[in-house]
Amino acid sequence: MKYPISMFPTTSPKAKPQDESKLGFGRIFTDHMFLMDWTKAEGWKNARIVPFGPLPIHPASTVFHYGAEIFEGMKAYRLADGSVQLFRPMENIRRMNNSARRMCLPVLDEEGALEILKTIVKVDADWVPHQMGTSLYIRPFMFGNDPHLGVHSVSNATYAVIMSPVGAYYAEGINPVRIAIETEDVRAVRGGTGEAKCGGNYGASLRAGEKAEEKGFTQVLWLDGVERKYIEEVGSMNVMFKISGKIVTPKLTGSVLPGITRKSCCQLLRDWGYEVEERLISAEELFKAAESGALEEAWGTGTAAVVSPIGELNMDGRDFIVCGNRIGPVTQKLYDTLTGIQWGTVEDTYGWTVKL
Ligand SMILES: *Cc1c(COP(=O)(O)O)cnc(C)c1O
Repeated sequence: MKYPISMFPTTSPKAKPQDESKLGFGRIFTDHMFLMDWTKAEGWKNARIVPFGPLPIHPASTVFHYGAEIFEGMKAYRLADGSVQLFRPMENIRRMNNSARRMCLPVLDEEGALEILKTIVKVDADWVPHQMGTSLYIRPFMFGNDPHLGVHSVSNATYAVIMSPVGAYYAEGINPVRIAIETEDVRAVRGGTGEAKCGGNYGASLRAGEKAEEKGFTQVLWLDGVERKYIEEVGSMNVMFKISGKIVTPKLTGSVLPGITRKSCCQLLRDWGYEVEERLISAEELFKAAESGALEEAWGTGTAAVVSPIGELNMDGRDFIVCGNRIGPVTQKLYDTLTGIQWGTVEDTYGWTVKL
C-alpha cells in the first residue's frame, strides 16, 4: 500500500438504521472514518482508520480562520447481488488534487487515494444501504491545521474520509424545481476558486440560496461574477439546456465546478447523437429561448440527485415554465442511464464503475 493504514476498530458499533426510507442526507454516519496527517517536512503519515467521532483541532488552525479546506462528494452503490461499487472514483481523486493545488494544500498519490477509498468503504461495507435508490455517500475532505495565526500557505494538513448512508433522492418521485436567477450575489469569479471544490465557495453562496428559498424557489441560477451575464451553475449543480434540439451547457471557464455528472452526461449525450455545445450562454439568450419556445428542457447535474429537472425559471421578474413543468425525455433518459450504470442494472460499457 502507498499509505499503510493502521486499524483501530470501534469497540461499540452503532445500530444500523432500521428504516432505509428515512435516511435523509448526511445525518447518519458509519462506525469508522479515515484520517491521515501531512506536514511540509515529512509528507503524508499516520494513515489510520478510527472510530467515527469528533476531531481535536487546534483553535488557531488555518481552516477556521483562512478557509484552507477542500472536499469531494461521491457514492458507493449496493448492487442486486449484494456487491458494492464506486462510480468514476479516480475523477474525484484528480479533482481533489486540482482543488488542493489551487488552495495550497498537499496532493495525494492517485492510486494511494483510491486504495484508501476502497479500504474505508470495505471496513464499513455493511453500512451501504440496500433499498432501491439509497447509497453510501462518501465525503473526503482536507484542511490546513497549522497551529498559528500568521497568514501563509499550509504546512500542516489532515485528510479525512467520512461516510453517510443516504436515502433515495427522489423518494417521492422526480419533481421539477423552481429556479430564480441571482443578480446580486456571485458564487465565484474568474481567477477565484470557482473550479475548486472548497467550502469557501459555499460560504459565499448561502445568502442567495436563503433569499431564493424565502421567495419559494428551490435553487438559484448563478451568473458569472465579471460580466454578470453568462449562466454558470444552478445551486450546487452544473446546468444543461436543450435548445432547438441541441444540448447547451456552460463551458468550464475557471469559475464553474467541473462536475463528474456533467462530464458523464456530455459523453452519453454525444454517444446518443446529440450535438453538445460547451460554450458561454447568456441569461438573455436563455430568456429569448424560453420566450420563443425553443427551450425544450433544462436540468441540473450532480452526484446527489444525478439530474434535477428545472420546471420553472424566474428571470428579471418574469416567469417561464419549462417542458410543461414535467421531466423531459432527455432528462429522464440521462437519469435512467446513469442511475442504471451506478446500481448495476444497465451495462457499463464505459468502464466507469469500480468494484470494491
Ligand atoms: C460538486 C459540485 C457540482 C457537481 O459535481 P459532481 O461531480 O457532478 O457531483 C457542481 N457544482 C458545484 C459548485 C459543486 O460543488
